Amino acid sequence: MDFLPIFLDVRQRLAVIIGGGEVAARKAELLLQAGARVRIVAPALGAALQALADAGRIEHRAERFAPHALDGAVVVIAATEQRSVNAAVAAAARARNIPVNAVDDLEHSDFIVPAIVDRSPVVVAVGTSGNSPVLARFVRERIEALLPPTLGRLAAFAGRWRKRVAHRLGTVLQRRRFWERVLSGPVASHVLEGRDSRADFELRRELQQASQAQARIGEVYLIGAGPGDPDLLTLKAARLLQQADVVLYDRLVSPAIVERARRDAERVYVGKEAGNHHVTQERIHQLLVQYALAGKRVCRLKGGDPFVFGRGGEELEALVEHRIPFTVVPGITAALGAAAYAGIPLTHRDHAQSVTFVTGHTRESGAPLDWRDLSRPGQTVVFYMGLSQLRTIFTNLIAAGAPDSLPAALVAQATLAGQRVITGTLATLADQAEAEGIESPALLIVGEVVKLRAALCDESRSAASPLAVAAPSLSRAKSA
Ligand code: SAH
Repeated sequence: MDFLPIFLDVRQRLAVIIGGGEVAARKAELLLQAGARVRIVAPALGAALQALADAGRIEHRAERFAPHALDGAVVVIAATEQRSVNAAVAAAARARNIPVNAVDDLEHSDFIVPAIVDRSPVVVAVGTSGNSPVLARFVRERIEALLPPTLGRLAAFAGRWRKRVAHRLGTVLQRRRFWERVLSGPVASHVLEGRDSRADFELRRELQQASQAQARIGEVYLIGAGPGDPDLLTLKAARLLQQADVVLYDRLVSPAIVERARRDAERVYVGKEAGNHHVTQERIHQLLVQYALAGKRVCRLKGGDPFVFGRGGEELEALVEHRIPFTVVPGITAALGAAAYAGIPLTHRDHAQSVTFVTGHTRESGAPLDWRDLSRPGQTVVFYMGLSQLRTIFTNLIAAGAPDSLPAALVAQATLAGQRVITGTLATLADQAEAEGIESPALLIVGEVVKLRAALCDESRSAASPLAVAAPSLSRAKSA
């Protein structure tokens, strides 16, 4: 290790920056955020620093650098573009034993300003010992994505309870176990989601249980895993997946996503084969409740979004009944994934003013569909679970008044490497699907917007690299 990482308390202490430009301004902002008094030494100021000086937030010495400018400083930053000035600043600072950083100039630096992820009071600093600031930024971006935006609240919460917990739990080991459990369990979820009084309540209960060594309850994350491409997982889904002790997943969740669970997490397949229900919905409810009551953090992973034809509501009812805490994480539903990756905008000012998601599996939907409504012009209709009912769907739409020339598309394995798209009309698509051997899972998209695909989708690209399809189709749509 070439540098010692430390966090320096600069509150109310003097930091001197030599230089008046953009870079100096960024360093000044950072030092002000950390509570320092900032002195700028520069003959002239750029706009950003001038604004700070006018607001009285910094001291400006409108002069060339001379060593006495450093008097009283605890840190010094040289942010000029002249190496000779950097050298003079570094020499003066070192003579006074004040740590100095010269921006982009290792030779004249005693310390480096790291890339920062700020979730105050939690702060993550990333450095590459000066080798590659850009790489440090990349690492920082990854960490940014991993840490919940409200992490700081969690630290503040723990800080608030720290003394009381120490008072209640006698040994260091007890306390460590307690905090490990609290910071990765339902209490933490409550804090992160801003449910402070609930968090306090649950922590009090945990504390009581910990001191009485009682059994504790787990929690359930009901997570939408998106249509298949693991890149379409949300940051929150990825984070909670990492936390779970048990993962219950469906057939539609791609293996690459299940892979993202913690290595030691228990993985339980609860998928259904079409028509042949291996694991009943009742059984899934039982499992969720059992695991949670045993104190586990359970991730219930569902394809697409849990509240779009996902029976997420029913599963939550079972949890509510047993007073098990839960968090719902939305996912990209199959229709949105399929539309983006197939180049079919679901609405378009010229062709469709509304979009409807319906189930083609009429037995599951309960009430019959309103075919007259679904066959109105000027809309897009997306059928989930419609593959086995194609002919019935088309017959019904045509009988209710839709022209048999109305465009329709099937998107199978949407967003996955094996994605297949066929387009036709209400008159032709069922035969095409049969001839092409289209298999489930597939979505049926009906409406004039299907015609746009020819212009908006680059077939060669989608075959070679399904991951690269969505963005290009959108950017071209804009310029069209
Ligand atoms: N909750 C899910 C839908 C579950 S219903 C969601 O929001 O997407 C199951 C139906 O979703 C399938 O029959 C199919 O019509 C559709 N589906 C799910 N994933 C799909 C995919 N990758 N490609 C095409 N259709 C998909």
